[in-house]
Amino acid sequence: MKSHRSFALWKRIHVALGKEVELGYSNHSIKNGFTAYLRKASSEDWFIQEYPDSLREKLNNATMIYEKNPSEGAFHGLLSTIGELQDYWDHQIPTAVMQDILLKPLQYCKGFGPKRAQLLSRLDIQKIVDFLYTFPKSWIDRRKTNTILEAYSMQGETVQIQAKIAQVSEQKRGGYLITSLVAKDHTGYLIASFVNQKYVKKLLQEHLNSPIFLSGKIQYQYGKLQMSNPLFEIPKDPKHPTSFQEIQPVYKLTDGLSQNVYRQLIRQTLLEHIVHIPEFFTSSVRIQENVMHRGEALSHMHFPLSFQVTEEARKRLVLDEFLFNQYTALQYKMLHRKKEGIQLHISDEMILDYQSLLPFELTFDQKKTMREFCEDLQSGYPMNRLLHGDVGSGKTIVAGALMYFTMKNQYQAIFMAPTEILAKQVFRIFTSLFASDQSIKGVLLLGELTKKEKEKAEFALQSGEASFAVGTHAFIEDKILFHRPATFIVDEQHRFGVEQRKKLFVKATQPHVLVMSATPIPRTMALTQFGDLDVSVIQQLPQGQKNIETRIISSSQRDSMNQILWSVLDKDEKIYVVCPLIEESESLNVANSVQKTEEIKARFPSIDVYLLHGKMKTDEKNHVMEEFRKASKAILVSTTVIEVGVDVAEATAMVIENAERFGLAQLHQLRGRVGRKSQKSYCFLVTDATSSSRLQILEQSNNGFAIAEKDLELRGPGELFGTLQSGHIFSQLVRLEEDYPLLEKAKMIATRFLENPSSAGELEKAIEFRNRKMVL
Ligand code: ADP
Ligand code: MG
Repeated sequence: MKSHRSFALWKRIHVALGKEVELGYSNHSIKNGFTAYLRKASSEDWFIQEYPDSLREKLNNATMIYEKNPSEGAFHGLLSTIGELQDYWDHQIPTAVMQDILLKPLQYCKGFGPKRAQLLSRLDIQKIVDFLYTFPKSWIDRRKTNTILEAYSMQGETVQIQAKIAQVSEQKRGGYLITSLVAKDHTGYLIASFVNQKYVKKLLQEHLNSPIFLSGKIQYQYGKLQMSNPLFEIPKDPKHPTSFQEIQPVYKLTDGLSQNVYRQLIRQTLLEHIVHIPEFFTSSVRIQENVMHRGEALSHMHFPLSFQVTEEARKRLVLDEFLFNQYTALQYKMLHRKKEGIQLHISDEMILDYQSLLPFELTFDQKKTMREFCEDLQSGYPMNRLLHGDVGSGKTIVAGALMYFTMKNQYQAIFMAPTEILAKQVFRIFTSLFASDQSIKGVLLLGELTKKEKEKAEFALQSGEASFAVGTHAFIEDKILFHRPATFIVDEQHRFGVEQRKKLFVKATQPHVLVMSATPIPRTMALTQFGDLDVSVIQQLPQGQKNIETRIISSSQRDSMNQILWSVLDKDEKIYVVCPLIEESESLNVANSVQKTEEIKARFPSIDVYLLHGKMKTDEKNHVMEEFRKASKAILVSTTVIEVGVDVAEATAMVIENAERFGLAQLHQLRGRVGRKSQKSYCFLVTDATSSSRLQILEQSNNGFAIAEKDLELRGPGELFGTLQSGHIFSQLVRLEEDYPLLEKAKMIATRFLENPSSAGELEKAIEFRNRKMVL
């Protein structure tokens, strides 16, 4: 048997156990003694029927030991014995059976029927499991009452009163039936009125002079204290607590469904089905990790025994979500590790050789990342790594090391960039870097090459004449084949779809893969979305913090901004103007930028103003970029973010129009294009949006990591798991900053389960259940 009575007992006992710890193991957590309570409960008939003799005996012993000598040691004996009983209880019904029950539509549950089920389906609640996992918006504490005298000074507040039913009357007023109740306590009286609630009069009259709980907004009107349509409850047995002495949940509702009915339904459903929530942790794991039982957590979310306990409950449920995610990611990672990869040999000499090609010393983080690459390449398993870091942190140069080691092992390295301009820039960097090494030859592969150029590049790749290639998604075309490819690098991975990346990676057998993110990835995101990858981070910038002054400017402040822009031009430096992003239409973007260019020409008559937009042909773009690079003072107007991914050292100011249309990370990345040489630089965020709290983050910080964290916080936890897994459970519960330790804990627990697969059966069932059927 697996009864709800047992569940209720465990729930109560665990709260008491928590108190025992708080009270220093005194056996005082429950009135008349914790052990007395436990002995009484465990001697009841239902308990005896539910548990085998051996376990009950064990419990009796442990109880006695604690009773005689309440101490930490005895407490732990008791705790683990209770755990054993609960483990027994947990496994009374096979998980698959419980899961099937949880997936039943509510319609067939006690107290529902088609009509109520229909109402709940409007809240996206169809199945029992949906209902149980839809949490209250908040709770109200009904354990606290005020006297009527106190209520006089609490007008407008929702107040709870415990009083006596003194007098009941009824009258008709303008088509309404008004029932009035005079309720008294030892400090005074108040009048509660009920409008059109026909059954109320009879009910109240039957209980004249009985105690009543009232909860409602207090008003002082016509010289009297009033409550209109209060919630009320007449306790059946004064010794037993009523819902009015609990913490009560408050749910999101829909028309036709009242808070009281909702509560009644969830209470009933919990009563019946909490016993069907499978627990995948054993009691010893729960004790070790200090986490609550899964069913208890769910139950405390709805009807908590204390507020402190709701926080523990929330943590357990968040931990579950993190654990499902981490287990899946790490399992994938382990599988990947088992594959045979291309083992490369990297000598110390090779590493020194690479460093000698560079005009500067690598930073500490760069060196560390390079070492991580080396380990991967030599491991015999395919590398599967993410590298992230701020704009300008020097990721490209470290990626160059990866290419160098690959080529020195007589394999090919392929670098895929999101745009042609970026591909060219990277190609230029690498050709000059490797110019002194005769054994290295690179090709550039772009979609817009002439037929002849393309054929030449294709041949070089296929024949092995080229040892490295830089290009765009042109690489994924079917006819592009490689000769001994071993390493793929994908820059700004988010600009490519998963499918696109896959199409590239299948062109080699178990290649080493490095994906790079142009901006830092918040730590929660790194673990949840990239948990299947190894992660390298570059925190420090090679040239130290950039000296960029960022200012939010409204249209009316343009004159003062232009003065600064003039001073920039006077120093023979250059300016970018980024036009607003109009997602719907590229032609609107173009029109906008053409107009902007005219405006700027009028304002800066003696200055060269260039325009770059998405509809221009490649050689036109190249031409413009070249002109801008060569000019001594110039302004470049650009429509898209993409085109600005360029390294022009003398650019020291950027104006971003309609900055509110860009994401924070994107703005930060854009602004990284100025001040490439640590010169004093400016970034003006032009916006007339009324609320600029988001943009202020950029004004205050130049640190991409901090910005990424804040940005994620603003966008909310829904972002964490991408689209598929962004179940609303998660958004309801998780607090990004605060819960990071839980994510790390989940990772640790997941690792332990993976190291000991025989213990992971129940967890895997839970994950499968979640993935297969509970996409909320
Ligand atoms: P990212 O790709 O991370 O945005 P890059 O690799 O383009 O950054 O590097 C930004 C700039 O810093 C480049 O001009 C690069 O040559 C330079 N750089 C990279 N590493 C170092 C270093 N260790 N010391 C000095 N300059 C560096
Ligand atoms: Mg880069």
